[in-house]
Amino acid sequence: MMIQGSTHNLRQLLQRLRNWALANSPWLVHYNSGSCNGCDIEILATLTPRYDLERLGIKLQGSPRHADVLVCTGPVTRQSRERLIRIYEQMPEPKFVVAVGTCSISGGAFRGCYNILGGVDAVIPVDAYIPGCPPRPEAVIHGVAALLKQLQPQRAAEIDYLLADMGATPEEEPFDERAELSGTR
Ligand code: SF4
Repeated sequence: MMIQGSTHNLRQLLQRLRNWALANSPWLVHYNSGSCNGCDIEILATLTPRYDLERLGIKLQGSPRHADVLVCTGPVTRQSRERLIRIYEQMPEPKFVVAVGTCSISGGAFRGCYNILGGVDAVIPVDAYIPGCPPRPEAVIHGVAALLKQLQPQRAAEIDYLLADMGATPEEEPFDERAELSGTR
């Protein structure tokens, strides 16, 4: 009984440690499921010295097996569907999915094409949506930061400070142009 109890405590401790590490330094894997590359370039811009997303503890890396967050761009084509599912299934739990750009949300400009299945959530569950065609780097950073704040609310003030330092504060309303184009403002 004693051994069972201590195994349970150890498991809980390891889980808490893992959640802490995930919230402090999530690792991203990026998948283009049919994008025109516009969104991908904006994601890359967030990693350059101008924005430097790594200041939030976020790291882009190559293997889904080591990733916590799947960042998807583009609509899902028939050809990429299986690969998207395989990448998602290879990621360890807990895992999160962020859809970047209008196409990954709804199919966007490619919606209705014979080879398009729709947005990412037509295939796998999505936790955060970042609209725009393409979204600006500030919007990508802001969306990822919102996910981080959900994971670790006690870091909210620190994350807001870093966002302000990057010039990506919520007050900047990164979706202005898109809203104006769609006539919602
Ligand atoms: S949202 Fe715009 S930039 Fe992004 S993949 Fe679609 S068409 Fe390209």
